[in-house]
Amino acid sequence: MARIAVVGAGLAGLACAQSLRDAGNVVRGFEKSRGAGGRMATRRTDHGTYDHGAQYFTVRAPAFRAAVERWLAHGVIAPYAGRIVNLQDGVTSTLSHPGQRYVATPAMPAVCRALAADMDIDFECQITAVTPGEQGWRLSWEEGGESGFDAVVLAIPAAQALPLCTAVPELAAQVSQGGHAPCWAAMVRYEAPLPLEFDAAFVADSMIGWVMRDGSRPGRAAGERWVLHANAEWSKAHLEDGAETVAPLLIEAFHAAAGIRAEPVESRAHRWRFALSGGLNAGSFWDAGRRIGVCGDWCADGRIEGAYLSGTGLAARLISTI
Ligand SMILES: Cc1cc2nc3c(=O)[nH]c(=O)nc-3n(C[C@H](O)[C@H](O)[C@H](O)COP(=O)(O)OP(=O)(O)OC[C@H]3O[C@@H](n4cnc5c(N)ncnc54)[C@H](O)[C@@H]3O)c2cc1C
Repeated sequence: MARIAVVGAGLAGLACAQSLRDAGNVVRGFEKSRGAGGRMATRRTDHGTYDHGAQYFTVRAPAFRAAVERWLAHGVIAPYAGRIVNLQDGVTSTLSHPGQRYVATPAMPAVCRALAADMDIDFECQITAVTPGEQGWRLSWEEGGESGFDAVVLAIPAAQALPLCTAVPELAAQVSQGGHAPCWAAMVRYEAPLPLEFDAAFVADSMIGWVMRDGSRPGRAAGERWVLHANAEWSKAHLEDGAETVAPLLIEAFHAAAGIRAEPVESRAHRWRFALSGGLNAGSFWDAGRRIGVCGDWCADGRIEGAYLSGTGLAARLISTI
């Protein structure tokens, strides 16, 4: 039985932590936010929720399919049945590869919250240093720290993992290969339904890359709430702009792309500094000698499926070597 610290309570960290715990290890999680979910996030308002990070996921690998079947049985996800189109200059076209998409219910963090429910996790605890000592690894945070961990897992974006793995230069070199593009997201509410024949769209020739009617997702409150995602290029160019400047620009671009005129009654923007990664397709990184590893979407395919497989894959490597 080993004592293992897992930093990050997004899907990768929780999938890893659960596998490690189920194998008989003592696992302690650390998460800087107030709750589990990471980029599978939601924003609550008086008029319903907005899933302003990841909006859905797809399934390819059999190992992920097995998890998805369990989540379906537990009611924390549901198939998405909304109408998704391609959108360009007010003209829609059918997707060439529609595929089955899933969303978590009643909001995107639901899967992670279910996984975190019986785990030992310190929330609102940002790890600031991971250092080796005579009694195993020491994790430090603003008000203190704890020593004696036999192994450490960093399940966080590459840019955030890099300063935490400087004690292992070979690992730091691998982590420095990873990265994420930013994404500005807008959450917009209208008093009346928009005159659109679709619920979600991949947008071309616009600073907007994706839009989705939040209420078209299973288990959500009624109401005309939309989430708009700017594309990576525009988000990068406007990364340091203020949220109050960005929201109206995203709304204007949405209306132009959809060919509509409308007046929102509520809007806000959120900056994701680390949103989407091309993915290194490496699965995970594990230094068996030093007993420190890294997982997350960016180690795999850059998506929710990759995050899950990266976390469970790293757990399997730990279990076989510690
Ligand atoms: C705008 C947007 C749209 C997306 N769309 C899709 C999509 O349509 N389909 C899809 O499959 N994926 C999508 N994604 C990507 C998807 O959200 C990620 O692949 C997945 O959620 C990554 O999970 P993770 O566990 O690897 O990382 P995260 O979810 O980022 O989890 C990392 C966690 O670590 C915490 N953390 C970071 N540093 C520290 C620290 N020092 N100490 C303690 N805690 C720390 C963070 O707070 C976070 O909770 C989207 C993401 C965004 C932002």
